Amino acid sequence: MSEFKNFIEDIIDNDLATGKVKTVCTRFPPEPNGYLHIGHAKSLCINFGIKQKYNGKCNLRFDDTNPSKEDTEYVESIKSDIEWLGFKWDKLLFASDYFDVMFDCAVKLIKKGLAYVSDETAEEIRLRRGTLTEPGQESPYRNRSVDENLKLFYEMRDGKYPDGSKVLRAKIDMASPNVNMRDPVIYRVLHATHHNTGDKWCIYPMYDFAHPIEDAHEGITHSICTLEFEDHRPLYDWVVNSCDFPNPKPQQIEFARLNITNTIMSKRYLKKLVDEGKVMGWDDPRMPTLSGLRRRGYPAAALRDFCERIGVAKANSEVEEAYLCSCVRDELNKTADRVMAVFDPLKVVLTNYEGTEELTVENNPNAQELTYRKVPFSKVIYIDKSDFALVPPPKYYRLKPDGVVRLKGAYIIHCDDVVLDGNGEVAELHCSVIPNSKSGDDTSGVKVKGVIQWVDAQTAVDVTVRKLQSLLTDVVDGVTDFNQRFNENSLKVVSAKAEKSLLNAKVEDKFQFMRVGYYVLDKDSKDGKPVFNEIVGLKDGFKPQ
Ligand code: ATP
Ligand code: MG
Repeated sequence: MSEFKNFIEDIIDNDLATGKVKTVCTRFPPEPNGYLHIGHAKSLCINFGIKQKYNGKCNLRFDDTNPSKEDTEYVESIKSDIEWLGFKWDKLLFASDYFDVMFDCAVKLIKKGLAYVSDETAEEIRLRRGTLTEPGQESPYRNRSVDENLKLFYEMRDGKYPDGSKVLRAKIDMASPNVNMRDPVIYRVLHATHHNTGDKWCIYPMYDFAHPIEDAHEGITHSICTLEFEDHRPLYDWVVNSCDFPNPKPQQIEFARLNITNTIMSKRYLKKLVDEGKVMGWDDPRMPTLSGLRRRGYPAAALRDFCERIGVAKANSEVEEAYLCSCVRDELNKTADRVMAVFDPLKVVLTNYEGTEELTVENNPNAQELTYRKVPFSKVIYIDKSDFALVPPPKYYRLKPDGVVRLKGAYIIHCDDVVLDGNGEVAELHCSVIPNSKSGDDTSGVKVKGVIQWVDAQTAVDVTVRKLQSLLTDVVDGVTDFNQRFNENSLKVVSAKAEKSLLNAKVEDKFQFMRVGYYVLDKDSKDGKPVFNEIVGLKDGFKPQ
């Protein structure tokens, strides 16, 4: 955690210093209508980060007050994604468990003369709402008596009225410059089955009424949300105060949502991709969902590091996708074992080498504790076609006719002969092993500048590799609409020859294929047939400003 304070931490420090707040309590309130994405990771890191920093609490509360779009599949995925990201919630709660509390609050408001039942249609309410420059008009039902309002509200609850025929409105101020304060609807009639409460309710609270009650009821001290709720804050405070919740009352604080270039941050659009079969599912490795990024091989630590490094802002902005990749690369550079794989194999016969041996090769030079593995070596190997040049450009340090190169972890070889096929293309190379040139024990005196990866032909494993790009193409001519930017070429499947140690890899194991990039073993792998997803390349394309 960084030593610099962000503006939210400044507020919390002040609340602790003045004694307003004793124990800091935050919450993460996802709506279970989709899988979590990288934007949610930002909110998770803020809320759980505060819990950790202030030795406070953070609840996971499913905001399931809207019965129509929610599903238990989403509830389970959200829980497992949060755990994977490394966070532990204090209480696990469902907003729908508070429907009774919310109902009682509504009754309290009616009794205080602060809410009334209206028979207006949604359209009538909209027409009377006024504009940013003109005040609204009062509802013809605004002056109903407390008794009449109570009777009607109970009847709404008891199922006497069809959907849309009546609403409960807060009685605030139709002339308020803030449109949200012009007698907002706080309850509506909706005959729908709820995934948690079933058919118990046929009236449901609106978000702006439910959320402050959930926060206050739970004892949340700092309710952190994204900027689009800034104009709703007066209503949030009105609900908390009018319902007489005790101190310390929760305080809403807004921050700028995370946007990343070429990255979809809308559950609605992500769901569309899943429903239309454009991706393999919510956890497709190209998806910006946490389960997709996980399957893509992005380590949880890298996502936390990214959220920490970009900081918390009060103004909207867009972070470069390359910055996230850079955090992933930094983490993998420390943690991923190196292995050898060849994507475009060129056969090399080592004419003076007989038999087989097992070389001992270091797994990761950057690891805290060095470990080694065995890599078989024999007379026929593959190198990558791009590591041989028949007509080399100047300063070419890889293999060329009559040139030398070091095979990583093995020997220096000399190219004696190039065998061409009928089309004049390089078919195979005949090389000789330089005596006494074994890695770690080289007394040959031969100087080489290039080191290349290779695999032993006899024992090599064929692996399937998915090369992945963004699901969105770059913005061209100002066209930002996701529907027009779907990248039809975001998935390319290729094959490679890899060292046989990869047969021992487990799903989610991550590797650096030396000199190529980082790869993760996918769950689609079958016995003896590994499938890898490309995580990131080796080159860092991110230039900090
Ligand atoms: P979507 O618009 O994709 O459906 P949402 O905001 O409706 O997202 P919720 O499930 O309501 O999704 O979000 C849970 C929490 O995550 C909220 O507090 C919300 O502010 C936060 N959040 C969602 N998207 C982002 C984002 N891009 N950056 C930061 N926080 C986000
Ligand atoms: Mg939402």
